[in-house]
Amino acid sequence: MTNASTGYVLVVEDDAAIRNLVTTALKLHDLAYDVAENGSQALLKAVSRTPDVIVLDLGLPDMDGVEIIRNVRSWSEVPIIVVSARQEDTDKVGALDAGADDYLTKPFSVDEFLARIRVALRRSTAAKGVGSLACADEAPRYRNGGLTIDYAAGCVCVDDKEIHLTPIEFKLLCLLARNTGKVLTHTYILKEVWGQALASDLPSLRVFMTTLRKKIEPDPAHPIYIQTHVGVGYRMLRVEA
Ligand code: CA
Repeated sequence: MTNASTGYVLVVEDDAAIRNLVTTALKLHDLAYDVAENGSQALLKAVSRTPDVIVLDLGLPDMDGVEIIRNVRSWSEVPIIVVSARQEDTDKVGALDAGADDYLTKPFSVDEFLARIRVALRRSTAAKGVGSLACADEAPRYRNGGLTIDYAAGCVCVDDKEIHLTPIEFKLLCLLARNTGKVLTHTYILKEVWGQALASDLPSLRVFMTTLRKKIEPDPAHPIYIQTHVGVGYRMLRVEA
């Protein structure tokens, strides 16, 4: 049963113990869900049940999880949270580059899982335009906590004070803002901002991120807007106003 107000989660996991852990957590929080134990079931249910979030284990018996992400991304923007084991770090980055939104590393806590689900559901609602958050692509203005971006005018304010950003910092900030809640990989960011993903440009990305944070973060040592995912990339967090 789909509950439009809270969201509908498709859990793709072949490990019964983890499946039970996550479905119990979803049940306790009144979230509707369905499960798939392999890739072909997952694709079938993704099409027939149109979930609001897909939780996808990368290590499935019949299919590579990345293949599922590519397939789903060819027709849907539904948020996908990838679940992977610690030793599958490169898979995780590959999954994000294929279009996954977020990842969880096994073993993870129920609280961590639910927090990610909430972020993904907010993204899902925003994308459908039924929530309070308009889709950033269509909205002329972006607001997140004390941060405001006027896309057309190219100006950025923090707590009502206008700040000056370089063109690259502005591009970087807009890219993260448009994808609030989603983990963006280094490769993806480099491609979008610099036009190509060269490993040699990674240090410049870090430098621009440092200068951007100095301008927008209340305390750059403890960022509230831009979260670092070591070895993976960055994510703009939704900050409560
Ligand atoms: Ca597995």
